[in-house]
Amino acid sequence: MKIQNYINGAYQNHHSGDWMDNYDPSIGAIYGQIPNSNKEDVEEAYAFAKAAFTSWSNTTLDQRSRILNKIADLIEANLDRLAEAESRDNGKPLWLAKAVDIPRASANFRFFAQAITQFSSEAHETVGTNTMNFTLRQPIGVVGCISPWNLPLYLFTWKVAPAIAAGNCIVAKPSEVTPMTAYLLGEILTEAGLPPGVLNILHGQGQSVGQAIVEHPDIKAISFTGGTTTGAHIARTAAPIFKKLSLELGGKNPNLIFADCDYGAMLKESIRSSFANQGQICLCGSRIYIERPIYEQFKEHFVQIVSKNKVGNPMDADTKFGALVSESHLKKVLSYVQHARDNEGYTVLYGGNRVTVAGSENGYYMEPTIIEVTDNSCKLNQEEIFGPVVTLMPFDTEEEALSLANDVKYGLSATVWTTDINRAMRVSKQLEAGIVWINTFLNRDLRTPFGGVKNSGVGREGGLEALRFFTEPKNVCIKYN
Ligand code: NAD
Repeated sequence: MKIQNYINGAYQNHHSGDWMDNYDPSIGAIYGQIPNSNKEDVEEAYAFAKAAFTSWSNTTLDQRSRILNKIADLIEANLDRLAEAESRDNGKPLWLAKAVDIPRASANFRFFAQAITQFSSEAHETVGTNTMNFTLRQPIGVVGCISPWNLPLYLFTWKVAPAIAAGNCIVAKPSEVTPMTAYLLGEILTEAGLPPGVLNILHGQGQSVGQAIVEHPDIKAISFTGGTTTGAHIARTAAPIFKKLSLELGGKNPNLIFADCDYGAMLKESIRSSFANQGQICLCGSRIYIERPIYEQFKEHFVQIVSKNKVGNPMDADTKFGALVSESHLKKVLSYVQHARDNEGYTVLYGGNRVTVAGSENGYYMEPTIIEVTDNSCKLNQEEIFGPVVTLMPFDTEEEALSLANDVKYGLSATVWTTDINRAMRVSKQLEAGIVWINTFLNRDLRTPFGGVKNSGVGREGGLEALRFFTEPKNVCIKYN
């Protein structure tokens, strides 16, 4: 199957005529081809986006809101088809795509359909001088949105929904590793009545089409989610040409477990926070620190439960963990386990191996892996692995737990398990992270600010923060008599 770019409201061929293979990770085989788009395609998409901007930015909020709601309705109506496409493209269990990825893509549009009708700006009266200032929040123009492969439609729509709600037009690029659902979204946009040119979707490699979006002198803002190294490269490219940037980058998140926690709830959620989506969520807690009195008990129970979860074909209903996204990613994740065994002498408590799934022998499957470490400065605790690998380490005091948690270059999220509200508050304040979950994980209210500190990114998405990012504030100062 060959997919196409979606430009000016229609599917069309790309300029180069080069194609890239698209893999089904569950069977380790090519199942389609995607356009290897380039700068020419970006130029074309930009021209249509620019042409659409005047009209779209003057569309009433009510009209924009209706179109966004219609897109949300159509995503819901296509739940099964989109979930199957997502699962096949990414390797995630079908039930997960059905329960989380696709409903959330719909919720993103529905949320910003409402949020834009509630968005307002400030006024400042300069008392005693007969002067009134008010802030106009105007759409930026044509913006670029670039997203990763781990939550393909979920994260793609998390960017494009607020951008168009705020009145911008977009040149967007989903990950070349998982382009399928963004491709299918094109049909939905047309059916929902989104005017041609408002959202253009280009497929291809980061270094070519992604780079061309970032370098384009008239694409005024870039919302990027992906790896920290790519984010740094984008910042280097975009900063000298003064683009507005939102960078949502990698994580190496701590899961702090205190002995006074609700043990049952903690155990259940820690399985999810460790291995959901095969550990390929930027928010997964890959470093688990456990207070010493419950360390041995946790270790035993955690290994016991994890070992019972089935790694299998994503389409099987009883599959808990599906395939990793690509062969190169699987090899990278396995190399960390190898390193832990060979170079650090660490004990792999469970897993660590590739899994052969009957009927899908070439798929990219891996056991969920638990490794006991003793030194926080080790590679496993410092680098983002982004796969089904977690480390366990005991701690003795709250201060030590905080010091271990903060001792990384990343700062995306943290999970804390305790029933002591005073400790929860103390720890939340001191954790270096953009998001702290206390006694829960991946619990998202779309109104809240989302993003990281340190090497996990710059800026916030979510709620009104996203609408602020996708608008330019202009102060208007009026002197009256
Ligand atoms: P990646 O950085 O390799 O790619 C992300 C996107 O950037 C892709 O669409 C890619 O084609 C594009 N890209 C690559 N080079 C580019 C360039 N020079 N110019 C413009 N675009 C370019 O990341 P990935 O492997 O797709 O995703 C995994 C990473 O994403 C992990 O580090 C993970 O933590 C991170 N992530 C972060 C969040 C968050 O919200 N903070 C969410 C999900 C994933």
